[in-house]
Amino acid sequence: MQALLWPNDEQFGPHAAFAGIWASGPFQGITGQRGGKGVPFQRVRLQAYKTLAVIALALALAVAAFPSIERIYLERASAAGENTLRIAVEGLSGSLERFQPMPGLIAERPILVDLLKDPDNEGLRPFVNEQLRLTAMSLGVSDVYLMDIGGNTIAASSYRKELSFVGRNFSFRPYFQQAIEGGLGRYFALGTTSGERGYFFASPVLDNTRILGVIAIKFTVDSFEEAWRGGASEILVTDLAGVVFMSSRPEWHFRTFGALGSREFARISRDRQYPLDRLIPFEIDRRTTGTLDRLTLDGETFVANEVPLATVGWRVLHLTPTAPARAQALLTLLGAVLLMLLTLLGWQIVNERRARAAERLEVQRQANERLERQVAKRTEALNTANARLTEEVEERKATEQRLRQTQRELIQAGKLAALGQMSAALSHEINQPLTAVKAYADNAATYLERDRIAEAADNVARISRMVDRMATLSGHLRNFARRPQDSVEPVDLSAIVGDALDLMEVRIAGVKARVDYTAPPAPVLVMGGRVRLQQVIVNLLSNALDAMQAVEEPVITIEIDHPAPDATRLLVTDIGSGLDEAVQDQIFDPFFTTKGPKKGLGLGLSISYNIVRDFGGSMAAANAPGGGAVFSVTLRSAETGDQTAVAAQ
Ligand code: ADP
Repeated sequence: MQALLWPNDEQFGPHAAFAGIWASGPFQGITGQRGGKGVPFQRVRLQAYKTLAVIALALALAVAAFPSIERIYLERASAAGENTLRIAVEGLSGSLERFQPMPGLIAERPILVDLLKDPDNEGLRPFVNEQLRLTAMSLGVSDVYLMDIGGNTIAASSYRKELSFVGRNFSFRPYFQQAIEGGLGRYFALGTTSGERGYFFASPVLDNTRILGVIAIKFTVDSFEEAWRGGASEILVTDLAGVVFMSSRPEWHFRTFGALGSREFARISRDRQYPLDRLIPFEIDRRTTGTLDRLTLDGETFVANEVPLATVGWRVLHLTPTAPARAQALLTLLGAVLLMLLTLLGWQIVNERRARAAERLEVQRQANERLERQVAKRTEALNTANARLTEEVEERKATEQRLRQTQRELIQAGKLAALGQMSAALSHEINQPLTAVKAYADNAATYLERDRIAEAADNVARISRMVDRMATLSGHLRNFARRPQDSVEPVDLSAIVGDALDLMEVRIAGVKARVDYTAPPAPVLVMGGRVRLQQVIVNLLSNALDAMQAVEEPVITIEIDHPAPDATRLLVTDIGSGLDEAVQDQIFDPFFTTKGPKKGLGLGLSISYNIVRDFGGSMAAANAPGGGAVFSVTLRSAETGDQTAVAAQ
């Protein structure tokens, strides 16, 4: 089965089998038939190519779909960035709005005017210093300081610190210049004293309408940046000139969007706003498609969201790296491709299973058909053999029938032969009493004439005995000549032996043979037929006498015994010539005789053998221990209950 489906699996290894799975699928019809008698190697290669083609197609689809999927993820990132940006901007502008009115409120303190009017008042200055320190603390700003009209700091919250603002001149700062002119000063710069980036608000300190000085506050932006840090995205804020002054990434501080103009550069230098050596422009690549704004800074690409802070002229940017979105898109795509391939593979496997099952069924069907054909052929052969057997049985039956017929005829012939043998002896035996009867009759007549009645009666009595004897002889002969019935029934073996001895009496007496036989006291019942059994025994006695022709004092010994509980055996032993080995082998064959043509037919033992077999018994011949032959006839013992049947015979 396996070999039929995949004759080359072993040859080409597991790849070939894998290719086979694919090939049995949807493209099967295009390229050829599986399980056919094509060129398997080419087929397997073709299947491998198809597999590769399917995978390549899936990959090409994935590559084509990638930008769209990436865009979905980027837009999602952009939407999330929008929210973060809004929160950041609100925080930032909230702080600006909160701190903006503070300098104006502080400027209203009369003590400031007092100090500005009398800057060298050693009693007032410490007091103002301490007041400013407390104010800075309660407002949560890094510095609060008071400058005179020339921009010299006369009191500051940082008066205790090493880098104190006190004594420093900030007249160069735009916020000072704006405030001294009576406006609200606002500015972002890197602190020249502290080196910290800070946002400055400043207000004029008025004595009625006269401007005596400027009060300024500064708050650092580090806390905003700290809040922005830690996420995957970045936030940065640029000023009007495009300089990044706030960023979640410290290394971006003071980087610029585009190169600064010479005037701008000069202004920054003059105001000492930013460290000039750090004003390095970004390498920028910006692509906006629809709502998606892709910004590449120094080779790093982000999705950008931007909001302007109009009041201060700033731009706040939220930047989400595109790498995670790309990775997500790639993962999604890979997952889809994998799912596609797996589905395809599953489908192929199911198809393959189905195809294999169908092929298995087909093979089974063919095997069944073959089997049926074989069975039909065998049945035919069996029928023929059966018919031949029936014929043979019929023939055998007919042959048996013929044999039985022949046997019966032979038995008759045998009997006639025995009769012929006996007739010579009988004629002598009958002639002799007849002569005697004649003599006794003549004598009786003579005695009657002389009135010697007693002598006459004696002679008549002798005649009667003679006649009786002759009658007995003729009775036996009649029995012998009669065709026996085929029935097998219980008969008395000892009585039959007696009858046979009676029949043979004349011959036995003729050769002066002695019969050594003691009749059993009770009847010995065996299964047989009286006349046929008698014929067997007569034949055995006759053969014994023949064999002892050369013996001076012939002896025949007759015994009856039981070799088994249900068997009865008759043994007839003589002291004659015995049996040669060659003779012993064929003694029961028909027409086997060692006697001259006129003396024996060679049928006696053969017929006897068959008769005994018909009775369900057996016959055997052997040499007797004392010389001579011993013939045994073994018969089935009859049940005692059958005795009535015997009596009726
Ligand atoms: P027939 O008596 O006509 O020869 P049988 O079948 O009765 O035919 O006997 C066959 C042969 O068996 C005899 O010719 C004889 O050679 C041998 N035979 C039979 N009975 C005896 C015996 N008691 N002793 C020796 N040989 C015997």
